[in-house]
Amino acid sequence: MDDKKLKFNSKLVHAGEFDFGFGSAVVPIYQTSTFRFKNAQHGADCFAGVSDGYIYTRIANPTIKVLEDNIAALEKGFGGIATSSGMGAVSSVYFSFLGKDAHIVSTASVYGPSRGILEQDFTRFGVEADFVDTSDPKAVRQAIKSNTKVLYIETPSNPTIEIADLEEMVKIAKEHNLITVVDNTFSSPYLQNPLDFGVDIVLHSITKFINGHADIVGGIIITKNEELYKKVRHSMVYLGCNMDPHQAFMALRGVKTLAVRVERAQENAMKVADFLENHEKVSWVKYPGLKSHPQHELAKKQMRGFGSMISFGVKGGLEAGKKLMDNVHLAALAVSLGGVETLIQHPASMTHAAVGKEQKLKAGITDDLVRFSVGIEDVDDIIADLEHALAFC
Ligand code: PLP
Repeated sequence: MDDKKLKFNSKLVHAGEFDFGFGSAVVPIYQTSTFRFKNAQHGADCFAGVSDGYIYTRIANPTIKVLEDNIAALEKGFGGIATSSGMGAVSSVYFSFLGKDAHIVSTASVYGPSRGILEQDFTRFGVEADFVDTSDPKAVRQAIKSNTKVLYIETPSNPTIEIADLEEMVKIAKEHNLITVVDNTFSSPYLQNPLDFGVDIVLHSITKFINGHADIVGGIIITKNEELYKKVRHSMVYLGCNMDPHQAFMALRGVKTLAVRVERAQENAMKVADFLENHEKVSWVKYPGLKSHPQHELAKKQMRGFGSMISFGVKGGLEAGKKLMDNVHLAALAVSLGGVETLIQHPASMTHAAVGKEQKLKAGITDDLVRFSVGIEDVDDIIADLEHALAFC
């Protein structure tokens, strides 16, 4: 079967499949660390790359390969590189393109540890980083220096739900010969394919929408071409942040329902956002589906839906926000996102706690910001839960 000829929903269910043997409908978990060579020459050929036989699971594994081929097909890339976590994907990309005296320009409100590892660890190796509002092309242009190598974008960003214009970002990056990387976790491949806009590399925390059931962590990188694929795979293998075959099996089970989950969650999210925008105790709401979102038109242009992530502020700031979080029952007070269950969290003290107070404010991560990941429960129950909890604020 040629995966490229399949439409999106069929790819979700079938892309990456091969003859699993015994008529098995589902990929087996090849739970092995190592693979037998047929003879000495076969072993030598595998290492030389002239045979495509498997060698060792840190390098490649058939179960993991199905997932990599599946997500690469969804993102329309050359190939996928699965990692132990989303941070494994982020680190492998940084490790591939950043070295002494290199500079990276990144989204100011990027996921906390994606920023933290640059500021706290990569600086030890002489890497410089600047964090700007990537929804503002002028700010991006101004941040680029002669040693800038990478433009790293999260769109929609976490947790400020700001949207970068991918076409514009690629144009700027090309003028300066930069590698463009998009963390597409918030959209999932169902809503947005950054490679279509000329982006070089896409990555995901599989933990979120792709797996969708809050029961594994994982990550993946998809490159637009073979050269980038080889470079990033080399980094992943040397860092040793490979995915495990069992993790890949779980992620494959999850990805099959990505479209139906995202459709339901974003339908719910639109209703929740409307409810919040009209609630007297809510001071502001950020959701790309709302006309009040500053990049509502851009979201319509480059995404196929508005997703299920909402940020909002409660009147009364952090104290009121705490009351809200302490009084929801259906929504779980937990980090992470993109699962079937509704989650609520406070980025300033949780996911973005590693970011300095001043930088947080500059990035728009205010103390009153509450992040809401809308699940696939009945929307009336989600709204009733919020209504009940807001009465305590
Ligand atoms: N990127 C984004 C946008 C995230 O929200 C996260 C985790 O929350 C990550 C990357 C890191 O993923 P993981 O937790 O799977 O390492």
